[in-house]
Amino acid sequence: MMQQELLRQIPKVDELVARPGLTGKASSAGVARAAREVLARLRAEILSGVLTQLPVPAELEELVLGEIARESTPSLRRVINATGVILHTNLGRAPLAPQVVEAVCAVAGGYSTLEYDATEGVRGSRHSHVSGLLTRLTGGEGALVVNNNAAAVMLMLAALAKGREVIVSRGELVEIGGSFRIPEVMEQSGCTLREVGATNRTRVSDYEKAICPEKTGALLKAHTSNYKILGFTQEVSPRELAMLGAEYGLPFLYDLGSGPLLPLAPYGIADEPCVAECISAGADVVCFSGDKLLGGPQAGIIVGKSVYIEKMKKHPLARALRIDKLTLAALEATLRLYLEPELAAAEIPTLRMLSASPQSLRERAERLAALLAPAGDQVTLVEDAGQIGGGSAPTQLLPGTVIAVNPHAVSLTELERRLRSCQPAIIARIAKERLLIDPRTVDEEDFEYVAEQVVVALEGVKQ
Ligand SMILES: *Cc1c(COP(=O)(O)O)cnc(C)c1O
Repeated sequence: MMQQELLRQIPKVDELVARPGLTGKASSAGVARAAREVLARLRAEILSGVLTQLPVPAELEELVLGEIARESTPSLRRVINATGVILHTNLGRAPLAPQVVEAVCAVAGGYSTLEYDATEGVRGSRHSHVSGLLTRLTGGEGALVVNNNAAAVMLMLAALAKGREVIVSRGELVEIGGSFRIPEVMEQSGCTLREVGATNRTRVSDYEKAICPEKTGALLKAHTSNYKILGFTQEVSPRELAMLGAEYGLPFLYDLGSGPLLPLAPYGIADEPCVAECISAGADVVCFSGDKLLGGPQAGIIVGKSVYIEKMKKHPLARALRIDKLTLAALEATLRLYLEPELAAAEIPTLRMLSASPQSLRERAERLAALLAPAGDQVTLVEDAGQIGGGSAPTQLLPGTVIAVNPHAVSLTELERRLRSCQPAIIARIAKERLLIDPRTVDEEDFEYVAEQVVVALEGVKQ
């Protein structure tokens, strides 16, 4: 039978690894592993009838080399974000400032003062590294950090309102990517959701009518980070909710989502209140992400009244959701930059990309376009709008100049695929029958590499 004959012809692992093209390409165990993998694949393809002819030895070598390369490529690796979406959730949200990366490296390879007070020689608290900075930057009395903001919301509800009703506006039953939904988080935290008002309008009286001394545990406001209700709308301000909470002795909790530490109005972003504003409006507890508009590492930051912060610190979930030392190092270094707002604006990549002027973006695009000269008329500059992304200020468009590529010899999808398979991958987007490369989110240091890869990818022959 044909299949049997083909199977018999498959070389032995030893024979394959001894081929001259494979010697010294990886450790001998590595080459053998890759060879075994390739041969197993061939066997399966023969049995399923996909393969009717065995590859020649040189092709087999290529397959093994390909497998070695695949195995040695890290799964989590750097990519170049040419989408113009600053906080791209799938691409890891906020990139860190160089000083911040240094701070992570400084503690990553050795021991650190994570929970050690080196002055007194006694046990310390991991929260101490950032709580002072956070209270200074936000005006909160105390601070606590956990793994991410979803964890922060969960801890806040579980520690402060478990077994009781939490009042939320129907306009704020937010879903943030997949499984984080206010109603479900509420349930998981052991609280009962008490919805009030209507989708488009909620008044302070709606909250007040729902308050019941025996049942109510807290008032919650969730920032509608990733959507906007337009038209005939009304929402209750943080100040009003804080006053209502104070009147009834209920904590007012605010899930702020992005939580910028500086006012973003000068950047033209009106819909993202900064943390200090919410604290000064009277919020008892505010929680927000470290890797959205703050521009730091993934973290959930909680600031507010000491009595509530202490309660959260003691809750068993605090241990389960605790932040690790690498993140803490990154967060401390990022927060230190904020002590001087000009330094933060200049050094934190998220803020820098956000505030880039149309003029500077045009100049960046021109510099990249100049490197793309070999592509000729396949490359043009167009005006387009970048986005903040990461579920922040969804209606906010950031005008700028981008590179539009109109390939002559390959299709748009093939061009996009080729750039994606570069090492590091270049992630671009297709819009209006063109491939768009937005220099806003590309480091200047990568311009030459991007241009080279685009020129190669535009060639008709398969790479
Ligand atoms: C993003 C966001 C969250 C979740 O924060 P993560 O840091 O992604 O866990 C929760 N609530 C709101 C309002 C958000 O915008």
